[in-house]
Amino acid sequence: MSTLHNLQVIDKKMLTPESVSVVLEIPEDLKSKYNFKPGQFVMVEKIINGENLRRYYSIYNLPEDAQIKLGIKLKGKDGFADFAMHHLQHGDTLQVSEPMDDVPFDLSDHSSKRILAITIGSGITPFYSYIQYMLKRQLPHKLVLIYGNESPAKTMFLDEISELEAQFPQHLKVYKVYSKDDSGDFSGRINEQIIKNVLQKEGTGFDAIYMIGPDDLKKTAAKVLTEAGTTSDKLHYRVYS
Ligand SMILES: Cc1cc2nc3c(=O)[nH]c(=O)nc-3n(C[C@H](O)[C@H](O)[C@H](O)COP(=O)(O)OP(=O)(O)OC[C@H]3O[C@@H](n4cnc5c(N)ncnc54)[C@H](O)[C@@H]3O)c2cc1C
Repeated sequence: MSTLHNLQVIDKKMLTPESVSVVLEIPEDLKSKYNFKPGQFVMVEKIINGENLRRYYSIYNLPEDAQIKLGIKLKGKDGFADFAMHHLQHGDTLQVSEPMDDVPFDLSDHSSKRILAITIGSGITPFYSYIQYMLKRQLPHKLVLIYGNESPAKTMFLDEISELEAQFPQHLKVYKVYSKDDSGDFSGRINEQIIKNVLQKEGTGFDAIYMIGPDDLKKTAAKVLTEAGTTSDKLHYRVYS
């Protein structure tokens, strides 16, 4: 178990009507402990209604920020996300673990990589950190992202990611999939046909594929990708629940 530290909330803002960004300050003496990599997460511990909750949140910003930023999406009433959205305030402190390993992103810059990322909702947080990292450090990679949400209004970091896509089209391509809106690239939930359509446009042969989402998304994506010739060593999967 990683050591917990008291970190102060120095900013909080709504990202969508159902998600919030919480920014935690890293004091000078803890900087070396919070020297995170994209894809890492922290555990936040909080007693809510007498229950000691431990919840995990991926860090969505860049290591050099001297802060950690969490993008937290509401799942249901009375959990930590509900508390973060409705009660957590600027100046409060939270007990936060040191960063832990999670998605094994390739951070090397010595060869160009083609990466496929598939996620829904708050699963975007580690990808958003990685996208910023990859573009800021000019890694010679191309990331194709299939990003599922109900609608644009409920999509975390939609404007930020779309701006980066417009700025760096050779490195980032985003396929927006909306289950309750038809303004995206595809309508409905991410399914076999949608993934096949993306592979038709982008080709196969990705060097790494990262999927964050529920089990059925993993099964669907793994099936299509395996049929398209992807070997299991290239598939990386995480469930966020
Ligand atoms: C490695 C890792 C990284 C993670 N990163 C993030 C992140 O960056 N951002 C983020 O928002 N979350 C992330 N999560 C999920 C997060 O840890 C919590 O599970 C989530 O915030 C729900 O916790 P809660 O206390 O609010 O709700 P809970 O107390 O778990 O649940 C509250 C209520 O919501 C319902 N509920 C819970 N989950 C769901 C669901 N999926 N669908 C419908 N109803 C549900 C429950 O049944 C209950 O009624 C991550 C999880 C892991 C393991």
